[in-house]
Amino acid sequence: EDDGGSDRGLMERAKLAATGKEVIEEDDLEGPLEELELALLSSDVEMSVAQEILRGIRENLIGETRSKVKTTGLVVEEALRDALIDVISVGQFDFEQRIAEADKPVSIIFTGVNGVGKTTTIAKLSQWLDDRGYSTVLANGDTYRAGANEQLQQHADTLDERLISHEQGSDPAAVIYDAVEYAEANDVDVVLGDTAGRLHTSNDLMDQLEKIDRVIEPDMTIFVDEAVAGQDAVNRAREFDDAAAIDGAVLTKADADPQGGAAISIAQVTGKPILFLGTGQDYDDLEPFDPEVIVDRLLG
Ligand code: GDP
Repeated sequence: EDDGGSDRGLMERAKLAATGKEVIEEDDLEGPLEELELALLSSDVEMSVAQEILRGIRENLIGETRSKVKTTGLVVEEALRDALIDVISVGQFDFEQRIAEADKPVSIIFTGVNGVGKTTTIAKLSQWLDDRGYSTVLANGDTYRAGANEQLQQHADTLDERLISHEQGSDPAAVIYDAVEYAEANDVDVVLGDTAGRLHTSNDLMDQLEKIDRVIEPDMTIFVDEAVAGQDAVNRAREFDDAAAIDGAVLTKADADPQGGAAISIAQVTGKPILFLGTGQDYDDLEPFDPEVIVDRLLG
């Protein structure tokens, strides 16, 4: 330290002590950051992502002043918690408020690979919106998979919602476009558009999603994946975000993932918020994402 750091530190510490504040120094952070690193890694957060998070926290906290709370250890712990919540809350917005304020109909496209619970999530969100007074129409933009229409129709029937679908092999953008027109003509508030989770190749899929994004210009694109998929979910989030920029993610099967590592990683890697967690197979099993809950679990 060439600026007489320790002398300056002493002076500042004395001054801050008088005002009830304390400066956080590098040494104070070492132990707690090591513990945090272990916690992140054991929650299935990838090493490079964990390093990035730790680097950001270190940069933000060193030299920062905090209200003096008993001991430096506690100051650091509190600061670390706040910093981690900041990482996980990146881009967080109030989904319901966004829906309330948007021009109707609001179009929402759901992206993600097959089997992760995308269709179930659409059904859950339809009910969630209906519970809050918003009407919805479902649109099946997965025109590739045999049985996709029937599966979504079953949900629509159970929920007593309208499904717009075309025959297998038709243009998915056209289906969703039709659903938007239907919503406009019938004063429906929200269009929930499913998309394919697999085509002949991954390139075909990304091209199709890009086209849907271009034609529909959806108000929101929501990426769905499994919390339990860990790093695979993170890689997919990045890839889908590149094809059709996502506004946020829903992590399903969180009931089987107590740690929430994927949530932390996806927020860090994409800079987009986790909006909801799927917590079971019933329509009610959808919870708004709360960064504090994940951090509490992580820090124990
Ligand atoms: P899609 O291919 O992505 O549309 O996947 P589906 O919606 O068909 O769901 C695949 C399976 O995952 C079904 O058996 C769902 O009941 C189940 N599933 C979906 N979401 C959740 C969840 O949050 N928790 C659990 N435990 N199962 C879920």
